[in-house]
Amino acid sequence: MSVNEIQYLYDIAAIPIEVDEFDAVFPHLVDYAIELFSIEAAVLYIENRGKLVFHASMGMKHITLPHYLPDPDETVQNRGQAKPRPFAHDMPAAGLSLRIGQERLGWLYVARKQDFSEVEARLLAVFAERVAIMLHHAHTQELIQLEREQRKLAHTLHDISLILTSRHSFRQILEQILAQVARVLPYDAASVWLMGDDGLERMACGVGYDKFNAHDKAKNLVLSPDKSPILHEIMTSKRALVISEIHKDKRWHLKQEYYWIQSWASAPILINDEFVGQFNVLHTQKNFYGDAHIPILESLAQLISIAAQNAQVFDGMRQALTREKELNTLKSRFVSTISHEFRTPLTAISTYSQILEKYDAKLDVHKRRNYFGKIRGQIKYLNALIEDVLVLGKSDAIGLEFNPNMDGLIAFCEDIVSETRLFAPSNLRFIFEQQGDGFDTLFDGKLLRHILLNLLSNAIKYSPDGGTIRFLLDASHKEITIIIADQGIGIPDEEQQNLFQSFFRASNVDELPGTGLGLAIVKRAVDAYHGKINVQSCPKNGTKFIITLPYIAAAVAK
Ligand code: ATP
Ligand code: MG
Repeated sequence: MSVNEIQYLYDIAAIPIEVDEFDAVFPHLVDYAIELFSIEAAVLYIENRGKLVFHASMGMKHITLPHYLPDPDETVQNRGQAKPRPFAHDMPAAGLSLRIGQERLGWLYVARKQDFSEVEARLLAVFAERVAIMLHHAHTQELIQLEREQRKLAHTLHDISLILTSRHSFRQILEQILAQVARVLPYDAASVWLMGDDGLERMACGVGYDKFNAHDKAKNLVLSPDKSPILHEIMTSKRALVISEIHKDKRWHLKQEYYWIQSWASAPILINDEFVGQFNVLHTQKNFYGDAHIPILESLAQLISIAAQNAQVFDGMRQALTREKELNTLKSRFVSTISHEFRTPLTAISTYSQILEKYDAKLDVHKRRNYFGKIRGQIKYLNALIEDVLVLGKSDAIGLEFNPNMDGLIAFCEDIVSETRLFAPSNLRFIFEQQGDGFDTLFDGKLLRHILLNLLSNAIKYSPDGGTIRFLLDASHKEITIIIADQGIGIPDEEQQNLFQSFFRASNVDELPGTGLGLAIVKRAVDAYHGKINVQSCPKNGTKFIITLPYIAAAVAK
């Protein structure tokens, strides 16, 4: 080894590996590649899920670079060694795999006008190792940052879920939620607006407006979709909206009293996919909010939607029941069942958050992702539970609508079967059969979905020892018969008459979880559908639900 080579090795070893962010890696390595090897062109591909994906290039202006690189060459090629290259480039070049141990992190291509000497080829390999360490470091930094943010978000969502089950009024709950929001989404002012029956939106809760002497004005403001472009946009798109610099775009013309607002972000509050209001955060700094905030905004809007649904359910019940006594028993049964159902997922959320907090350093990336996934799953479950309560509240107060406007019955049922199968344990077999010639019937997808999801999830849940779940769809031009049969625990004879009452659960359910709301929803959906439901069941031998719904010809429906 010559003194010169040793000097080069020393220089390569001295290349600093710390870069602040991932995008800084390429310019950083290019500087050194020019200094040490006088290269004139470079291309970097980054490994992503087993594929090499284009990241950045220099000096390759007129050359087409593929987005993915299937199986790149890993050698130094001088002039005259005409091997095929991944791109049409004919200078002497080197393809360098960037590895740490067995793991490939990327692939680097460097080229210049002069051939590479044998010594340079060796030095390039050492250089590639240094670049791999640089990449690894940047990756780790990014992950740490991402996880820090996710953890904060999980904690905040957890704290908000606790607020949701508290006994405060809707307004107090909203105020507490907005206070929590500041932890993950800083703002100068934040507010929740709700749509009234008159189609106009009013502020239900606002914080931070005082500082700008805008609270009273905002409180008395009534927004209509025709006159407020932001409301119109969110209402029609049902998506979060981020306006990084609000005064730059004339479309949003803000009133004089809101001139302090520079950056604006909103998310729609949706209940059953219906727009019921919006959640805003406002900032006095330009470009404060960006697209990266959209997922957080949407999660928070979802929690506010749960709070709104909670309030609606209680209001709906209050109106539907006139007699004090009925109200009290129902309320206490509701509170005890629901709070039990809430407690389980909340305990899980709390446990996972504690593990994440306590064993932070000892958990690898997969475990941490897994725990965050579990937290999200529990939040989703809480949401579904509220959804159930809401459907019941709605059916008691105003009845469920019957709207047979869909076609494609088989595909619709197939989708629901695949959806429920995802949650089924592997000891369960599914058979989905169709017979008859009435599949051109129109149907009400919303009601049918309630019916099928609840019956199939019951069939799964109440078959703890496995077996076969049979779903028969028999369609004639007179009626549609749906049979869902399982080989599970069955229902005691004398208890079958109570099945469709809210909160009823049979005596043989043991530890199997549930609220007793599913079949009450099914019954109401079948009634709204002008259909019939029957059950045949034998303890330990399984249960069969038979539903008949009317056939609806397309011409009749129009
Ligand atoms: P959830 O509200 O989560 O659906 P749940 O499953 O307990 O709770 P329902 O779906 O209303 O409530 O069912 C009421 C009761 O009927 C159940 O608790 C169970 O005792 C009984 N049941 C319903 N379906 C079946 C079935 N396929 N096999 C055995 N028992 C059943
Ligand atoms: Mg059920």
